[in-house]
Amino acid sequence: MLNFPCHFQVLARHAGLHARRHATTNTSKSLRRATTTLFLAGTSAAVAAYFFLPDISRGAPTCDNIPLNPSHFTPVKLVSSTVASSGTKILTVTIPPELLPKGSDLFAPIWSVFIKDDDIQVERPYTPLDGVDEEGNMRFWIKRYQHGEVSRWLYSKQVGETIEIRGPLKTWSWKDDAWDEIILISGGTGITPFYQLLRTVFSENSSFQGRITLLHSSRIPSELPPRDVLDPLLKLAQHNPGKFRLKLFVDSFGESNGQSSTDLEIHQGRIGKDSICGALHSASRVPWWRSLFSRDSDVSDRKILFLVCGPQQMVEAIAGPYGRNYSQGPIGGMLRSLGYKSHQVWKL
Ligand SMILES: Cc1cc2nc3c(=O)[nH]c(=O)nc-3n(C[C@H](O)[C@H](O)[C@H](O)COP(=O)(O)OP(=O)(O)OC[C@H]3O[C@@H](n4cnc5c(N)ncnc54)[C@H](O)[C@@H]3O)c2cc1C
Repeated sequence: MLNFPCHFQVLARHAGLHARRHATTNTSKSLRRATTTLFLAGTSAAVAAYFFLPDISRGAPTCDNIPLNPSHFTPVKLVSSTVASSGTKILTVTIPPELLPKGSDLFAPIWSVFIKDDDIQVERPYTPLDGVDEEGNMRFWIKRYQHGEVSRWLYSKQVGETIEIRGPLKTWSWKDDAWDEIILISGGTGITPFYQLLRTVFSENSSFQGRITLLHSSRIPSELPPRDVLDPLLKLAQHNPGKFRLKLFVDSFGESNGQSSTDLEIHQGRIGKDSICGALHSASRVPWWRSLFSRDSDVSDRKILFLVCGPQQMVEAIAGPYGRNYSQGPIGGMLRSLGYKSHQVWKL
């Protein structure tokens, strides 16, 4: 994910979301919400600083005899590495099951781990696609950036080698009944947190009654997520008609000249206002031009949530830029012009 937001942001932004997710129009609730937001943001910034500021994380010790934790690195084995597409791989690492921390909430979506490049002592966050299983396996879809420090190092790792990770780090908290409709918008490897979320939301134990649409875009068809990632999502869509839809976009068909060589339905062009409005259920739909005539678009009263994850330019175009000090920043881009407010948008 080119230009993924800096990982220090994650906890501070996450806390702000908690307060915003429970927004109502009631004034006293708004006040309470504002207080909660400030409190959570402050607390989380402190926690984030404690755990994630570079000096501290670089200095975090490595321990192989206490459970996985954000404050130290745990050595794990790379047990599988498969080229998924040009410049991307699916990697599986295994953590000894006795080092898995107890507590079901820790591994509730969406969470990531930091992986440390121990040649240069630099870490980056990565999202395990399926979380972690009972045997301690975590599977990642990783992309190698041409000049990227950690991604190139990670891509070069061989099966049997040891990698150090720390976490889990919660990047967003799911609640079954908070939203009627959720639109996930991703670009490139930005699909990984959504994959993790969807696998949980549509598991047997979930009581989610709303609808989710995932709009994913890649530059060209060969850069779309590999079938290991797409097929389970397509199956979810098939088994949950009316509850989950997946729409794939490419900027262009590249050399295939408008012809997709796969059985996938792929739309040409970037994700724009039309595709966003078209993704909403008809009951939630307001034509985008309505916002030209009405300042207070009624869409902001609805229980609709947008989660956006991908290259920084894409996030900015859709939801506005990130703010200073690792905050969410104001809502901008297409979602703002469609009338959505900050409690309805989260930039991962
Ligand atoms: C919560 C979270 C979860 C994530 N999950 C995943 C995941 O599941 N899979 C995944 O692949 N990624 C994921 N990422 C992104 C990942 O953390 C890294 O940001 C990514 O791998 C790039 O790291 P890097 O060290 O290789 O690149 P960096 O060294 O940080 O460089 C970033 C970009 O800048 C470019 N760049 C670097 N140096 C130069 C230069 N001198 N001139 C021009 N350009 C340059 C690089 O080519 C690269 O495109 C996640 C990020 C976050 C925040």
